Amino acid sequence: MSTPPDLPSQVVTAIRSVVGSGPVALHEPSFNGNEWLYLKECLDSTFVSSVGKFVDRFEHDLVKFTGAKHAVAVVNGTAALHIALRLAGVHAGDEVLVPALTFIATTNAVTYCNATPHFMDSEIATLGMDAVKLRDYLISHTERRSGQCVNRITGRVIRALVPMHTFGHPADINGLLAIARDFNIVLVEDAAESLGSYYHGQHTGTFGLLGTLSFNGNKTITTGGGGAILTNDTELARHAKHLTTTAKLPHAWEFRHDQIGYNYRLPNLNAALGCAQLEQLPMKLSAKKALFLRYQIAFQELPGVRLVSEPVNCKGNYWLQTLLLDAEIANQRDPILRVTNDAGYMTRPAWTLMTELYPFKDCPQMDLTTAKSLEQRLINIPSSSHLVSQ
Ligand SMILES: *Cc1c(COP(=O)(O)O)cnc(C)c1O
Repeated sequence: MSTPPDLPSQVVTAIRSVVGSGPVALHEPSFNGNEWLYLKECLDSTFVSSVGKFVDRFEHDLVKFTGAKHAVAVVNGTAALHIALRLAGVHAGDEVLVPALTFIATTNAVTYCNATPHFMDSEIATLGMDAVKLRDYLISHTERRSGQCVNRITGRVIRALVPMHTFGHPADINGLLAIARDFNIVLVEDAAESLGSYYHGQHTGTFGLLGTLSFNGNKTITTGGGGAILTNDTELARHAKHLTTTAKLPHAWEFRHDQIGYNYRLPNLNAALGCAQLEQLPMKLSAKKALFLRYQIAFQELPGVRLVSEPVNCKGNYWLQTLLLDAEIANQRDPILRVTNDAGYMTRPAWTLMTELYPFKDCPQMDLTTAKSLEQRLINIPSSSHLVSQ
């Protein structure tokens, strides 16, 4: 009898059985709809910058798809977070609760407001912020002063809470909303990865005071670079548009600006791409779900390896397909990464924890046992929607 193949080559075999022979990228965009048509129309119109019909249409289409009352299109997801945090009232000297296990954009946006990120642990079930642990932490580490939640150790106001829907899997929104309410902290959702993901039937990014999306090239749909701010608050939406368009007062010819704004408006050219991509989103979402189901079958016989699936009562977009290794075989992560990438299948670990990064090494943090464990055990595998014929 031949010896059984080692785990890394079994992972290669499982991936190959689903996506065919390599090389296969982690996540590639595909342009199978009206992209060329809309881009030509945009060029012909000469309105390629921050004014034009595609920007307005893209916002309208986002509102229709997500069910948010308002969407404001901006240059990228990081800019969306920056403005959302400002509108949430995050000021210099405040603290903002963010997951330690996230992409750096969430954390960078906090520092753009001259506020301090405060790092939170994750839970296994959702890969997002652990609401139960967070509540206990706030009870023991904060006190209420003039209605505000104050960190007892640093003396700073904890202004906002920014859960992130990891790889498209919705976080424990109900638990986090209850904390936001009980501790008087504003909830802003980083829904950059979760377009097309629903929590209890409602689209992610629409629960907090504000939510943000990203349309970077590696996301579920892309505008090249792009993002959006979602909110149900009409006044906040108006303010978001104003701040992201240099705070210019409307006038036929005068240049008057009533505050320091930002040049964050999504160009019409990018929005044209976005309109075409959004038309194909339902198709991409069903392809991604089908890819997940195929991987699930391919990996079901591999001991110690499971595919991360959408949390209960949630519908995930399966942006990035994710393997979770059992804790006992966490030491197999790096060999699996090496062997799969050598075989032409692009796989990636989760992000290095924010607390490990030099710029944030002195920031406050809670116990991060689960986030540290997850970081050692997560592997993203090829996830493009075109890997399933559409
Ligand atoms: C992609 C992403 C963003 C936004 O990124 P941009 O490249 O600025 O659009 C923010 N947060 C998370 C978690 C992301 O994955």
